[in-house]
Amino acid sequence: MGTGIFFPVSALLFSILIVLLFFTKEHYKTVETKLYGYLIITNLIGLIVEILCTVAAYISKTNPFLSTLILKLYLVYIITWALLFTIYVYYISTPLEKMHKRAKMGIIVSTIFWLFSVSMIFVLPINLIIENNFQTRYTAGASVDFTYMMSFVLVIIMVYCLLKNIKNSKNKKYIPLFVFLNLGLVAMIFQKFNPSILLMTYIETFVSVLMYHTIENPDVKMIEQLNIAREQADKANRAKTEFLSNMSHEIRTPLNAIVGFSNLLLENKEIPDNAKDEIKDIIMAGDNLLEIVNGILDISKIEANKMEIEASEYSFKKLANELVTLTKGRIAEKPLEFKVNIAEDIPPVLYGDCQKIKQICVNILTNAVKYTKEGWINLTIDHVKKNDICRLIISVEDTGIGIKEGNIDRLFDKFDRLDIVNNVTIEGTGLGLAITKKLLDMMGGKIVVQSTFGKGSKFTVSIDQKIVENPTIKLDEEEKVIDKVQVSDEKIVLIVDDNKINLKVAERLLDSYGIKSVSVDNGYDALSKIKNKEKFDLILMDDMMPKLSGTETFQELQKIEGFNIPVIALTANALTGEKEKYLALGFNDYLAKPINKEELNNIINKYLNQE
Ligand code: ADP
Repeated sequence: MGTGIFFPVSALLFSILIVLLFFTKEHYKTVETKLYGYLIITNLIGLIVEILCTVAAYISKTNPFLSTLILKLYLVYIITWALLFTIYVYYISTPLEKMHKRAKMGIIVSTIFWLFSVSMIFVLPINLIIENNFQTRYTAGASVDFTYMMSFVLVIIMVYCLLKNIKNSKNKKYIPLFVFLNLGLVAMIFQKFNPSILLMTYIETFVSVLMYHTIENPDVKMIEQLNIAREQADKANRAKTEFLSNMSHEIRTPLNAIVGFSNLLLENKEIPDNAKDEIKDIIMAGDNLLEIVNGILDISKIEANKMEIEASEYSFKKLANELVTLTKGRIAEKPLEFKVNIAEDIPPVLYGDCQKIKQICVNILTNAVKYTKEGWINLTIDHVKKNDICRLIISVEDTGIGIKEGNIDRLFDKFDRLDIVNNVTIEGTGLGLAITKKLLDMMGGKIVVQSTFGKGSKFTVSIDQKIVENPTIKLDEEEKVIDKVQVSDEKIVLIVDDNKINLKVAERLLDSYGIKSVSVDNGYDALSKIKNKEKFDLILMDDMMPKLSGTETFQELQKIEGFNIPVIALTANALTGEKEKYLALGFNDYLAKPINKEELNNIINKYLNQE
């Protein structure tokens, strides 16, 4: 045996070691680990074939067929390893999405390349050259030249992948490629002078050992532990959302009574004016509490990735009108001038999540009112059109307390309220802007803040909305502003709620419109009243009731022949998306507790105002 055998034998030991190391360790099957598995197995087989090549030299006279077969198998190995390594280099250089698309094509091209190369290797001739009494022996001939040529093509592909991805070339995954290219060059020069010493397989083994440390081979145990930890975190998160939803429900129920009765007291003519001021404070405190509950719910929903964009067609004018009316209401008696500047040519119907845009604008407008003692607030809405997209640019400027420069970055952190010392009298949670920012991120919008401490602030929001050329919504109907409620005579409403105080609030609220009502505290009584053909014009249905829930009662009602009374879901469950849930169940409408006067006006006008 010549010195040539020394390299493959020692490489074989390394190769066996790396195969054992890799396959005895439990590993995750990824494209990378699979490719690596094939590579090291190919390398192992190649080394065995290479050792057999020495035998082939000795039997070349006695068994030329077997000898040639072994020599050609070695060439097959060379091309197979190089092809697998090229696929690996291509894989680490291609973004995952592209890889998914190209996977099938890649497999087909590689298979064709391999089959073509192998056929050519077997078809073309190979010569075994033995000199110096077996001291020098190597192969030559068209088959060998062809293998080198095809390997060269593969090396070009590898270099192309590297150059295309040159920015990431510092990634450790490219180390084996660099080593392979450099050592490969050295080996080729070396082999030119000592053709009988085969270095290539040795280099490939070295590269395989290196790759063991550079491929991504995630630890199964660690991943399992991470999965368990993630599951636990998900579970805790779900529990938190559920808790918040329940808490919201529990807080809203008594709040409904507080706000409802206070509103009724405010309308009572016998109550003296000074008491009315205190009632107004109670209502304001109730509204603030509601805002806090809603804020906490929203932020937890966003963080649990449960907040979704619900896009639909909407009237821009209606949205703008609502913002103006709402802000005027908030300013109330504050000595603030409210300037409104809305571009005339904004497309009338847009497509997007109108509710979320409203929430964003209301947050900024409410802040402007809250943090401005005197002067003015300016609401400007403009737009930029590009194809079918309308970029709304909404800015709110105020002459308020302003924000210190260093604090602007903290504005969007949740629960972070700036300048607490000066703002103690202003109600707030520090959630509004955090929610605003997150909603904008979800919609691909932006917010910019400019502020001078002591002088005022300007918040500018930009959001892209689709322009609707042929709207399906009716604009006239959408824009109708309801300021006066008219009820036709003799209307009777059935109220279903298990909470006595809530029943009383609803009764009294309806009474203030001159509407008669009948109350029941469970679903069964409601069903028997309808079955007994008692006449009602509307049903207000609470959902969370023991035994028979509002939804179940509603479904039973639907089964009664000839039942056609509109049913309104009246619930303290106010997670975003609840309204859509009830409408999808078939309820005619939805009213959240505490009952908002404006929303009740809308419902009454819609369902009790027809003769
Ligand atoms: P909050 O409920 O406290 O108003 P926000 O998240 O809406 O919470 O706002 C965070 C903080 O940013 C506020 O506490 C306030 O200090 C500051 N801020 C927001 N808007 C303005 C404004 N228009 N003028 C001055 N300060 C503002």
